[in-house]
Amino acid sequence: MTTEEIIGIKEFARNTGLGVSENVSLSRYTTFGTGGVCPLMIEAGGINETAAVVREMAEKSIPFYIIGKGSNLIVNDCEISRVFLHMGKGLSDISVSGNVIACQAGAALSAVSGFARDNGLTGLEFAYGIPGNIGGAVFMNAGAYGGEMKDVVKSVTACDYKGNIRVFSAEELDFGYRHSVFSQGGYVILSAELLLTQGDTEEISAKMAELTAKRKDKQPLEYRSAGSTFKRPQGTFAALLIEECGLKGYTCGGAQVSEKHSGFVINRGNATFEDIMNVIAHVKKVVYEQRGIELECEPEIIRE
Ligand SMILES: Cc1cc2nc3c(=O)[nH]c(=O)nc-3n(C[C@H](O)[C@H](O)[C@H](O)COP(=O)(O)OP(=O)(O)OC[C@H]3O[C@@H](n4cnc5c(N)ncnc54)[C@H](O)[C@@H]3O)c2cc1C
Repeated sequence: MTTEEIIGIKEFARNTGLGVSENVSLSRYTTFGTGGVCPLMIEAGGINETAAVVREMAEKSIPFYIIGKGSNLIVNDCEISRVFLHMGKGLSDISVSGNVIACQAGAALSAVSGFARDNGLTGLEFAYGIPGNIGGAVFMNAGAYGGEMKDVVKSVTACDYKGNIRVFSAEELDFGYRHSVFSQGGYVILSAELLLTQGDTEEISAKMAELTAKRKDKQPLEYRSAGSTFKRPQGTFAALLIEECGLKGYTCGGAQVSEKHSGFVINRGNATFEDIMNVIAHVKKVVYEQRGIELECEPEIIRE
């Protein structure tokens, strides 16, 4: 990407009314806390404005990456020469009509599930403790404690890289385990409608409190991470396999297989991208050698 291209898209985004920041350290935008500097970050704003900037970047062949809360990402510490489109507060409206909540992609899952509770709507309690945004959650069909986005998403509005806005019905979303129609790329998720059911606010609150306590008890939330580092292999659990292979506590530099939950690789404070990748590579190798199972990384890895 040339300096002229960066200046061009920066001006375009500004003129469209979107916020821009230059030379942004991605470590501030990832829950793991790694990530080098990107030349430009654009804050998504209105639906049409965001779609216009996406079209402009695609037309000018400017490499870009979509980022929400950065809670499912492991980003290299080197310079990342792509524009980052941040789906955050600028695109985070939440509203309700009957049993349907409409939320923009930058709305935090915790905010949307709290909104559902406050409106006496049940079905989204599972998502309360997942630290992502609606866009990221739809992208990978986030789930926990027996619930997943698939159960509640009624429709999704997204734009392709030509800026064409399209509404996907639930049937078109191809949801699977940590997968959606968007997983292969090519779309920016702009908003979603969630279909919930009437419930009792106190019962919903109690369920959320119960799940939050479970998370605190089982997960190393005192450390930075990207949540579960490995997808659930068929018929077993990654954490169990890792523990059985004697890898609990395995450490490289500042990265470690959590002592509290072996499915989490954690940043003990000063982990580099390389430390994290070394721990992941070692875990995968040992589990494959000892159990013949190939673990697959759950978070997206940005190496460039
Ligand atoms: C402590 C902890 C606990 C977690 N627990 C869970 C859990 O219980 N269940 C679970 O499923 N996950 C869990 N996660 C992982 C993570 O929170 C979820 O995957 C979440 O849905 C990611 O959302 P995000 O906004 O952070 O996405 P990001 O990490 O910012 O992005 C993830 C991917 O989605 C794409 N993306 C993001 N927004 C959009 C958009 N608007 N349009 C198109 N593509 C987009 C990105 O390009 C990237 O490929 C946990 C993470 C942490 C740190």
